[in-house]
Amino acid sequence: HADTAMYGAKAAGRSNYQFFVPEMNARATERLVLENALRRAVDRNELCLHYQPQVDAVSGEVLGCEALVRWQHPVRGLVPPAHFIPVAEESGLIVPLGNWVLRAACRQQAQWASEGLETLMVAVNISALQFRRRDFVDIVAAILAETRANPRCIELEITESALMEASDDDLARRLAELRRMGLSLALDDFGTGYSSLAYLKRLPIGRLKIDRSFVKDLPGDPEDAAVASATLSLARDLGLDVVAEGVETSAQRDYLAARGCQLMQGYLYSPPLTAEAFEAWLTERAGT
Ligand code: C2E
Ligand code: MG
Ligand code: MG
Ligand code: MG
Repeated sequence: HADTAMYGAKAAGRSNYQFFVPEMNARATERLVLENALRRAVDRNELCLHYQPQVDAVSGEVLGCEALVRWQHPVRGLVPPAHFIPVAEESGLIVPLGNWVLRAACRQQAQWASEGLETLMVAVNISALQFRRRDFVDIVAAILAETRANPRCIELEITESALMEASDDDLARRLAELRRMGLSLALDDFGTGYSSLAYLKRLPIGRLKIDRSFVKDLPGDPEDAAVASATLSLARDLGLDVVAEGVETSAQRDYLAARGCQLMQGYLYSPPLTAEAFEAWLTERAGT
């Protein structure tokens, strides 16, 4: 590390480089350790899904839920997705992990349907890397067949970056195939990337999810209010549904609902829950 140390010493000052170099190594090591642990997580049954309700703010009806992956590491405990999804994406592990998630979510949908929840939608996050694979549509078809999930109750949440990185024709064809199979498509984290309005008009996307970062400081923050209002009026003009994520307060809900956003997801209603806790939550809600 002599060169690095010299460079560090010159660039950052003598007192800094001793701190700087080991810290970089520690981070690279931590990443590698995490990657290796994640590689085994699927086989070791350390992953599970939690489900966060999506509620119609006007009728109070629970229309669906979003499946969110959780990693219960034997030593580290619950590792947040913000920590391991980026590692999974950089290493390519997101592909097997994402397939696992889709299969588990579809299996759960089929089970809920058999227990009387035939119309409950289950939304599943799809990463750009997964979506861009040539065999993505085939894999989805195989998982639907295997789990006997109802495609009309499965929504794929795709991010703007997934759309930007795929070539136009290919992208449109793929989305159309998924729609033909009966699946719904939502654009996740809307507003955080380069939202191309032209894309939205052309692609068979039925729903936008307003990113939590624009909901957080509503209704007080004028810029967030402008983004939320503009998104909602755009959606109305394009005939799209909108889900607001990260709704924590009734003031946020009221602001959004007044501007035509009916579907809400957030701690105001419920955090993500295990499947059993979600069922209990539904039962309790029905009784009140
Ligand atoms: P996302 O898809 O935008 O999911 C929403 C995130 O907001 C979830 O975080 C959820 O727990 C959190 N959230 C929901 N309501 C509230 C609220 O009222 N307040 C606050 N502060 N947070 C709220 P989570 O579960 O930690 O997931 C973070 C991100 O990780 C997700 O963002 C998604 O991008 C990614 N992710 C999670 N599961 C999967 C997966 O199975 N596959 C892929 N590719 N990505 C996933
Ligand atoms: Mg999502
Ligand atoms: Mg989102
Ligand atoms: Mg988000």
